[in-house]
Amino acid sequence: MAINLVAYQQILQELNPYNARLVAVSKTKPAEDITALYEAGQRIFGENYVQEMTEKQGVLPSDIEWHFIGHLQSNKVKYIAPYVHTIHAVDSLKLLQEINKQAAKNQRIINCLLQVHIADEETKFGMDVNEIESLLTAFTENQSVYANIRIAGLMGMATNTDDESKIRSEFHQLHEIFNNIRNTFLKDHSYFKELSIGMSADYHIALQEGSTMVRIGSLLFGNRNYSQI
Ligand SMILES: *Cc1c(COP(=O)(O)O)cnc(C)c1O
Repeated sequence: MAINLVAYQQILQELNPYNARLVAVSKTKPAEDITALYEAGQRIFGENYVQEMTEKQGVLPSDIEWHFIGHLQSNKVKYIAPYVHTIHAVDSLKLLQEINKQAAKNQRIINCLLQVHIADEETKFGMDVNEIESLLTAFTENQSVYANIRIAGLMGMATNTDDESKIRSEFHQLHEIFNNIRNTFLKDHSYFKELSIGMSADYHIALQEGSTMVRIGSLLFGNRNYSQI
């Protein structure tokens, strides 16, 4: 259960020259582990499950920046809208509309990252380029409606493989999609600046390919035991 503070300091040092931030992924881990990392200075935590994140948010310090990084169902947005800072895996216009609606109810602005499907695996969520472009077309044609969200960037997960060149090319491809959007659809949006790529196994490659946010769990908190949740 002990967290790895040596790894934490080392990761922070590695992120420094890239100006990238760490999202500490605490899913399935107890609130005490989050508190231990919080006391070491960490403020951004990422969770994958609505109920688990909401329970932790209720008992942990209010200056934690909560990032929802899992697949989010529209009907659950209302539970996290009062406090969530950034939602990393927005994969439909319908979900974006619901986030905007619930953020408005709470008089808040929620940062949203669009999840792009870059991996080979069928199981990984996310939109392809055509789907992203049609979402962005709908968004830019009707922008005044979306006063309570910000499209703050893109998120992606590489294929789970030992082939580094494959991972690198998937991240590279995502960075190119990001640049295209920044130069076209969202060129007047200074807050479109985040590239959420990189996990425990591939964050070094992600940093070299332009990551601004790495999402790291097991290196900090140890392996997860899903039977405990
Ligand atoms: C669990 C998870 C992570 C962290 O994975 P590790 O390999 O433990 O670093 C990152 N991103 C997403 C979307 C996750 O679900």
